[in-house]
Amino acid sequence: MTINIEKIREDFPILKKEVYGKPLVYFDNAATTQKPTCVVDTIVKGYYDCNANIHRGVHFLSQQATEAHEAARKTVQQFIHAQHAHEIVFTRGTTEAINLVAHSFGISQCSDGDEIIITQMEHHSNIVPWQLLQSIRNIRLRIIPFDEKGVLQVNQLESLINEKTKLIAVSHVSNALGTTNPIKEIVRIAHNHDIPVLVDGAQSTPHISIDVQDLDVDFFAFSGHKIYGPTGIGVLYGKEKWLEKIPPYQGGGEMIHKVTFEKTTFNELPFKFEAGTPDYIGSTALATALDYVSNIGIENIAQHEHELLHYATEKLSQIDGMRFIGEAASKSGLISFLVGNIHPYDLGTILDKLGIAVRTGHHCAEPVMQAFNIEGTVRASFAMYNTKEEIDILVAGIERATKMFRR
Ligand code: PLP
Repeated sequence: MTINIEKIREDFPILKKEVYGKPLVYFDNAATTQKPTCVVDTIVKGYYDCNANIHRGVHFLSQQATEAHEAARKTVQQFIHAQHAHEIVFTRGTTEAINLVAHSFGISQCSDGDEIIITQMEHHSNIVPWQLLQSIRNIRLRIIPFDEKGVLQVNQLESLINEKTKLIAVSHVSNALGTTNPIKEIVRIAHNHDIPVLVDGAQSTPHISIDVQDLDVDFFAFSGHKIYGPTGIGVLYGKEKWLEKIPPYQGGGEMIHKVTFEKTTFNELPFKFEAGTPDYIGSTALATALDYVSNIGIENIAQHEHELLHYATEKLSQIDGMRFIGEAASKSGLISFLVGNIHPYDLGTILDKLGIAVRTGHHCAEPVMQAFNIEGTVRASFAMYNTKEEIDILVAGIERATKMFRR
């Protein structure tokens, strides 16, 4: 089924905006997506109509807000096909979700000398938390490399695994290269050795249908704001057996069962991991965003975005001096590139003046830039509301910029 882009664009008022007198062309969706009216309405309605702290109140409003928050948990469960709602932990985003696992799994399951495997294409949020763990446990990071096209060398995984390997943490889709990694294959290899797998789904969840049971991942993290939801809310999925096994990340209200000065016992899942007042307005707005995506159909969105990716790759490749960073056959959602020797920042600045929002720099994936020996790239990333006409505007903008630099 094809999706009705014009109708979808009507749901995103910001897309009507002009920037420097030019219609906004928003290609910075991998950083954050725009929000449909229904999501903003849920936030406004939440604060105007249904605001009270959750879980602890016997009064009407508190119960209404609690029900909305717990219903949102079920929506997330269904969206990523988790077995249980209590396997869904609300976090501030992907970053906090990975920090939670790095800390709680790290201190409980890792000893000095143990190893964690990550990949060369990770976002800093799946590198630095493991390095922070190194100040508590003397663990070693092992790295799965990628080749010159940005394809992960999964055939090297076996040789990196040994009896000290405790966890494999990989991104589903690279935010710097666009590469989609073969998660099922990685999980199969890992589970043959009884090693759990954490997947950073920040860049996959908005573009690919996620079934955590089918993927058989042990942990899966994503951010609400990258899938048309609000900022400040995200999700950690964990298999029940792992969430039971690892200790709380933060201490405080909500996460306790009983507190005395001598000893504290912890609440059941998922509350054990949700210390303090959660973003219950954010969770309900995230549920609205996921329902919005489900109504359009994630498969339909994927097909549309795949067409955009294909069209953009073809058009951009005709530009003199175009160099793609990331040419894997299996890509999703974005294109990273350089043109001649124009600095990405200069190209991004000129495109901005033409109303085109792209991201420039290292995209919080400095090891990727180091592998290509470059400072950064220009990144155009797509969402369901983008059009081929907007890609034509981007291509014309780049051609104009290259002429300016050649002069
Ligand atoms: N992982 C990847 C692959 C990302 O692209 C991002 C954000 O760009 C993150 C993690 C971090 O997400 P957040 O800043 O929402 O926590």
